[in-house]
Amino acid sequence: MTALPIPNTALNDGNEIPQLGLGVFLVEPGEAERVVTDALETGYRHIDTARIYENEAEVGRAIASSGIPRDELFVTTKLWNSDQTRAGEAFEESLDRLGLDRVDLYLIHWPQPMYGEALGAWRSLIEIAESGRATSIGVSNFEIEDLQQLLDETGVVPAVNQIELHPLHQRRALGEFCAEHGIAIEAWGPLSQGKTDLLERPEVVAAAEVHERTPAQIVLRWHVQQGRIVFPKTQRRERMVENAQLFDFTLSDAEMTAIDALELGTNLGPDPRTFDVR
Ligand code: NAD
Repeated sequence: MTALPIPNTALNDGNEIPQLGLGVFLVEPGEAERVVTDALETGYRHIDTARIYENEAEVGRAIASSGIPRDELFVTTKLWNSDQTRAGEAFEESLDRLGLDRVDLYLIHWPQPMYGEALGAWRSLIEIAESGRATSIGVSNFEIEDLQQLLDETGVVPAVNQIELHPLHQRRALGEFCAEHGIAIEAWGPLSQGKTDLLERPEVVAAAEVHERTPAQIVLRWHVQQGRIVFPKTQRRERMVENAQLFDFTLSDAEMTAIDALELGTNLGPDPRTFDVR
């Protein structure tokens, strides 16, 4: 099985991550093994899962049966909110479900500031990274103040912050803070989760016509051209192929600016300040 020509992005800890992968949030139970197998056959080598997606075991089975050498794959999973005070055990349970002896990236899924447990969880992730069982560690849905606390208290900078980010919600101040500290941005919901008319916006459609690409490819190209890491979710093999064809064309400055102007200033997903699901 041949890997797609997807560039790597350097992380602040000296490791690298493929700039494009497949996300498996809301992949239906019983479908994830087939979906990940399709992705690996298509040439994807980066899979983004999480404890709460309840498909780590299926992701692991697809990886095992692919025969692809472990060091050619990049696997991310995440610590669920109710496990922040038992991160070491929760991590072992994720590894068991995945059937792996290490992951490439382990993330704290949400900051949950109302519980004040994320700093302790971060200290556990630092130990996990020191043990070599997570090659890189990072966070998800962290705001500037959440990141600042980790930096002030531990001095260990997360390799990534995985946040809701798409043309309608661009998180510019947070992005600047992350850039200053060398924290790579992973954009979740890169296509706005299929919940908006983003792919029908004239600015996106016009660029699609010029470049003879699909609107989804234009939006994904807008992300990667700014150095972000993306893992659009699809269960359809032909869309896996489509979503990976981003690295052989360039949007003009005018096209980038037109898409930048789609900012709505509000998130579509949960507010990380108040999101409290355990
Ligand atoms: P997304 O923006 O990737 O949207 C997925 C939807 O877009 C699909 O269901 C499909 O309807 C549509 N789509 C995909 N390819 C398309 C194409 N080529 N043309 C037209 N429509 C297309 O949203 P997402 O799945 O929420 O985000 C991607 C990944 O990010 C997830 O699978 C998950 O791994 C991660 N994620 C993380 C968090 C977090 O809190 N850390 C939250 C949500 C998602």
